[in-house]
Amino acid sequence: MTFLTAGENVYRQVQTLLLDQGRRSRFWSELPLLYEVSQRAPDIAAYTKRAYTLLLFKQVLLAGRFAVQSATPNNAIREIERQLTELLDIRVASDARARLARAIKAAVDVSCKPIAASVRRAVLGTAMIWQCYLCGTSLFSEDRDSPHRVSLDHLWPSSLGGDSVEENLLPACLHCQQAKANHVQWESLGVHNLMLSPYPSVDELASVTRREKIGLFYFIAMTRAEKERLSLRDALLRHGPALNVRVRDESTPAGFFDLALEA
Ligand SMILES: [Zn+2]
Repeated sequence: MTFLTAGENVYRQVQTLLLDQGRRSRFWSELPLLYEVSQRAPDIAAYTKRAYTLLLFKQVLLAGRFAVQSATPNNAIREIERQLTELLDIRVASDARARLARAIKAAVDVSCKPIAASVRRAVLGTAMIWQCYLCGTSLFSEDRDSPHRVSLDHLWPSSLGGDSVEENLLPACLHCQQAKANHVQWESLGVHNLMLSPYPSVDELASVTRREKIGLFYFIAMTRAEKERLSLRDALLRHGPALNVRVRDESTPAGFFDLALEA
């Protein structure tokens, strides 16, 4: 057996377990073909770009968190800039780097802030029954374990710099919140692994998980937010709750980008 460093060992296991095996493998083996012939090519290119952006985003945020913890408050921005240059090798103009460092500091500062009672009241208003913004379940209970419990979901996750403000919060059910967890967007929800046969059976359609449907929901909403210059919240609300999945063209194998959602 060839010698592997501990790091290479992890890297190879990640690739084998998460990319090369099972139904996950199909997307990656078909990718070159899809780029060439499929109408999905623009979506797949957008997917790849966003996934890479997300990877870099998480790196800079992590570096920012580390810098804020290790520096004095007055030096935090300078320390973040140093991390960006020296550790992440991000070489950009100094004013752009300073702007990025300030943005990272702001994201680190708001991360995991609790939701103020006044903000909660502003989001929920005076209604007695709310709807989960993802699946449409009626929410009315205060009971901790009830599937009808009202809780607020950070649209951009709190742990990744999502502000605890009205514009970033909507009522969601427990199931959807657990499925979405702290994934930023559709890229991180493993949706690219999804692949259905032509004319999929009811059972096969039912095998699409809530997490994958939420990924699709966010994919549609984020694309709309970018195109129509809407906030993510407005784009999600205009879409409306919808987690029933259908295949757009039944005659071909369907991947993530070939699916549509309906209420
Ligand atoms: Zn829900």
